[in-house]
Amino acid sequence: MRERMRKPKAIIVGGSIAGISCAKALILAGGDVVVIEKTCGPPTGNPTGAGINRAVDQEKNICADFLFIFLHGLIYNTLPVEIVFWGHLYLTFCISHNKSTVNVKAKNLRTDVIIDVVGDLLVAADGSRSSVRRTFLPDSKLRYTCYCAWSGVFDFSESENSETIQGIRKAYPTLGNGVHTDLAPGTHIVLYELMYKRLNWIWYISQPEPELKLARVIKETKEPFLNLIYDCDPLTQVYCDNVVFIRDAAHPITPHCARSTNMAIADAAVLGKCLEKLGEENLHSALEEYQSVRLPVTTKQVLHSRRVGQIKLGLPLPDRVPFDPKTTSPEDCEILKQRSLPFFDDVPATLE
Ligand SMILES: Cc1cc2nc3c(=O)[nH]c(=O)nc-3n(C[C@H](O)[C@H](O)[C@H](O)COP(=O)(O)OP(=O)(O)OC[C@H]3O[C@@H](n4cnc5c(N)ncnc54)[C@H](O)[C@@H]3O)c2cc1C
Repeated sequence: MRERMRKPKAIIVGGSIAGISCAKALILAGGDVVVIEKTCGPPTGNPTGAGINRAVDQEKNICADFLFIFLHGLIYNTLPVEIVFWGHLYLTFCISHNKSTVNVKAKNLRTDVIIDVVGDLLVAADGSRSSVRRTFLPDSKLRYTCYCAWSGVFDFSESENSETIQGIRKAYPTLGNGVHTDLAPGTHIVLYELMYKRLNWIWYISQPEPELKLARVIKETKEPFLNLIYDCDPLTQVYCDNVVFIRDAAHPITPHCARSTNMAIADAAVLGKCLEKLGEENLHSALEEYQSVRLPVTTKQVLHSRRVGQIKLGLPLPDRVPFDPKTTSPEDCEILKQRSLPFFDDVPATLE
């Protein structure tokens, strides 16, 4: 690690998988870190309780599964406890005239006290509806994909021999060995078994975007569990002055390639390595390098995942006939595999 007079300080907004991974990477790079997260504590994954498959971000209702919570906990538990400000809502930021520091305002949601945090770098890890991105890049809008996902967890711990579970085991004899996808015209279902005799299902249905008022009511109902699926046209820049974007704050992606958590960790690790290599005094060069490594990769991944979703949901595409699972070709089946995602196996050279 490089020797320094002063450690650069990063303020990370968002303490989900991208924010926590970034905190870890920047500490390893020799920096000081503060994480501002509006939820009141880390996600808990009591495997026998009701919270196993529920949201980390209540507003967005992300279906975070046990592995996600486990991975988050694994990284979080290696961090100094005092660096994460749970229950703090990020409000605004401003950059100093000479662009050397950034000042962030956040509200303690328990006491309503506003705090100021001053640092060298602001990392936006506040998810697909990123407030930081809205400030910096107001033209970058979420795009409704024309489909949504209903999801739920079926608990069969008390009814292992029921007709329902026997029927599903007969239909999917390898249930328990990975993810099953069932395709039908205009829709598909993803199904996989969780620990402790539970099944997670996600049902993607093509439909017009619900009216905002109705969508709010649906989303705020705990059961059933609905995600309207959005992505975003790829950005042309993922940093500006002392502000950098990672994972969903930079590139919301449709979930069909199940690669988002992996991408969050890759973003964080590359950012950490670039800062370590170029140092605090070369912050902008480090951010430029981060952008040059990650932007081409995530751009291709977002567009590929968008196309996979459009094909699977049978949506019209200018260069092909709508997908029909009954008459599909082997080439189509190849595209739909998760492994077809560009850079699926790649480790960024910066990390080698
Ligand atoms: C139906 C569905 C299925 C999916 N399946 C998979 C899968 O199989 N594999 C996979 O890898 N990914 C999957 N994903 C995607 C994955 O859940 C997200 O991409 C991932 O959570 C993004 O991580 P993030 O840290 O960038 O953002 P988020 O997880 O959205 O976290 C953002 C954080 O910022 C905080 N925040 C936001 N605003 C503020 C504020 N103003 N102040 C303070 N804190 C704030 C939020 O509370 C939240 O904790 C799926 C998503 C959906 C919708």
